[in-house]
Amino acid sequence: MSGDNRNENTGKNKGLHYEEPLLWEYAQGGESGVDWPELQGLKVRTGVPEREDIGLPQLSEPEVLRHYVRMSTWNYSIDHGFFPLGSCTMKHNPRLNEKTARFPGFAYVHPLQPESSVQGALEVMYELQSWLGELTGLPGVCLTPSAGAHGELAGMMTIRRAHECRGQVEKRRVILTPDSSHGTNPATAVMCGFEVRSIPTKDTGRLTVEAFKDALYKTDPQGADIAGMMVTNPNTCGLFEREINEIAALLHDAGGYFYCDGANFNALVGKVRPADFGVDVMHVNLHKTFSTPHGGGGPGSGPICCTEELTQYMPVPVTVKDGDKYRLETMEDRPDTLGALKAFTGQFGIFVRTLTYMKSMGADGLKQVAEDAVLNANYLLSQLGEDYHVPFEGPCMHECLLTDKAQKEFDVTTLDIAKTLIERGYHPMTVYFPLVLHGTMLIEPTETESTSELDAFIATMKDIAVQARGADGHDILHAMPHSSPRRRLDEVKAARKPVLKYIEK
Ligand SMILES: *Cc1c(COP(=O)(O)O)cnc(C)c1O
Repeated sequence: MSGDNRNENTGKNKGLHYEEPLLWEYAQGGESGVDWPELQGLKVRTGVPEREDIGLPQLSEPEVLRHYVRMSTWNYSIDHGFFPLGSCTMKHNPRLNEKTARFPGFAYVHPLQPESSVQGALEVMYELQSWLGELTGLPGVCLTPSAGAHGELAGMMTIRRAHECRGQVEKRRVILTPDSSHGTNPATAVMCGFEVRSIPTKDTGRLTVEAFKDALYKTDPQGADIAGMMVTNPNTCGLFEREINEIAALLHDAGGYFYCDGANFNALVGKVRPADFGVDVMHVNLHKTFSTPHGGGGPGSGPICCTEELTQYMPVPVTVKDGDKYRLETMEDRPDTLGALKAFTGQFGIFVRTLTYMKSMGADGLKQVAEDAVLNANYLLSQLGEDYHVPFEGPCMHECLLTDKAQKEFDVTTLDIAKTLIERGYHPMTVYFPLVLHGTMLIEPTETESTSELDAFIATMKDIAVQARGADGHDILHAMPHSSPRRRLDEVKAARKPVLKYIEK
């Protein structure tokens, strides 16, 4: 605890900045949330050992409640202010979504209710499947995956299942993915039993047909060992893959499938259907593109959308409409499905929020989302490009990439810039990702920020650049942040030697 910040009367930090101890670290007064009379004269008759004290904290209900509420106020969120975390699409979550999700008829349905009693809920899921199918151009939609990464797993298992059903799974072992891809892409491919072959993009930030061909035909002249590729478009450098049509055609000729990581769909929604640039299966992060809450607050949702051909292999359940009734199709209805990935149908509350958002925006509104998101990112790029190094030429999509190259001359790095943003009351951008360049800063403003909000951020970033160039710029910025309860953490130690459980001293 930073002693000088403590209020001598309450023991709490001044300025209502709490340093919250663990529940175990509070004085243990033997309190509890409920009053039970001491049990008298009971014998254990079940044959299990008698219960012993397992050391749970002894606190009252208000103590526990205050502990958690105080901790909840530490969480900087999109409702606090600008949150330009690249690749995460931290956009405003309209409260209308929350209102519909709380309708009792939606909030209190139980997954084990008979289908006849949840026709409305099934209709929501059916309609959401239709919207997602329409927006992606990929008509087979499975809503169950619980996050983007889970969607990737579902999609790649679908591809694997397709090769399996054709007796090709032994032969087709390789998944191609650019070196700039999100870590979940290669990780997913490996989890599905594939080998990962990385495609270099370094010079241009984009895939080229040339580099793609080198990877495609590296071990077989026909690419007969290729299972597929995983590509994010626009990619993690915020750039549209210009040669994607030709690349997809080459991949398909070789017999591979195109998995698109749809996390960046906010740049395309309503404008481009990924099926039109050759995608066979993709996930959509409902919690990114479609404005449902995420970031420590979940729950996320990552439905997958696939071509008609792949639909038979994707996971179940899937909602279908028979006449005027809705029902869930399961493994019995779909003999080639890879099976179920989890119990029940997925994050239903998120489906309600998403469909509310889609319907309140309308098709034209969703198109404008993409346009405004791209416009905002390009505004930042044009302004910040004066002070920060822009590694890749030309307009960006929904996020812009900068590096600390210009600041490094003054011994100031991306980490110092991020820490200074915290001092200035901003959540930093995504730092040191993508990994293809040194000191990257990936900034995604989204469409829900106003010009004045963007201008204030630009002014702060420019100010930091000026400070960095100043006489003791590096000393000042190395000492940031001053005001947060924790300042600079030993991140290497935190990653290498995490302490994951409370150890009583
Ligand atoms: C966010 C993201 C993911 C993973 O999504 P989660 O919902 O966090 O699992 C995958 N790929 C990219 C490019 C992302 O930005």
